[in-house]
Amino acid sequence: MEPNRAGLSAALSAAVGWLESGGSALDAVESAVMRMEDDPTFNAGQGSVRRADGSVEMDAAIMDGTDLSIGAVCVVRDVRNPVRIARELLDARETLIAGENAAQLAPTRSPAVGPTALAGGDTVGCVALDTAGRIAVAVSTGGLTHARPGRIGDTPLPGCGFYADSFVGGVAATGVGESISRTLLAARTIVALEASQPPQAAVEAALLHLARVGGDAGLIAMDRTGQIGWSHTGDQFAVGWARGPSPILHVEIAGVEDTHG
Ligand code: ASP
Repeated sequence: MEPNRAGLSAALSAAVGWLESGGSALDAVESAVMRMEDDPTFNAGQGSVRRADGSVEMDAAIMDGTDLSIGAVCVVRDVRNPVRIARELLDARETLIAGENAAQLAPTRSPAVGPTALAGGDTVGCVALDTAGRIAVAVSTGGLTHARPGRIGDTPLPGCGFYADSFVGGVAATGVGESISRTLLAARTIVALEASQPPQAAVEAALLHLARVGGDAGLIAMDRTGQIGWSHTGDQFAVGWARGPSPILHVEIAGVEDTHG
């Protein structure tokens, strides 16, 4: 679907722009996810799906694989870019802040408009590797359509919806949060990368565990050398990737509802 392609391509350009101008992998993943939060095609930020009571509640996280710092927020309302608050929290002692206490850290408040192009889509995520060898990951979501208010999925939980370790690799998940959390998909992927499995084999092996609990999910992963892999259950998954002019500038990004590639 064209809106997805255009949105992924804009997000990739933003991330690559940062990396090419000497920005860090953290800048790259934050900017890519902000682009997708601003694009109502995706289920994040402006395009977030609605809860059972019609409200919009969002979750986001960012992780620096070099010092393993994490900033994450959940059930935030009326925030334009939840990933920006997550980035603010990277330097804080706390890793996850919920609700209004998190939303108050946002530079600007703005109600989400709801999905315009597609309904019921998936979390957005980005993994990047920079010239300093830093791997970073960021994810953002409006959660599941008609979910109970206050429900939190995998997205703000390390080892479930995301993880990054610059000595190993990075991973981001999308799909049914309860299934992803119950099977620890990000953690399983990282452990497989640590055991030197290629990213493609790592994500495929992790997704096999979904069979025990049901539900669909998708994973994107990158190892510390910049090799990438992605896989998903279910029909649709949008993924894009870019390699910079330097052999060690890589971005991998996933959005919502599209055919492969
Ligand atoms: N993973 C998100 C959640 O469960 C939703 C999604 O990816 O569609 O909150």
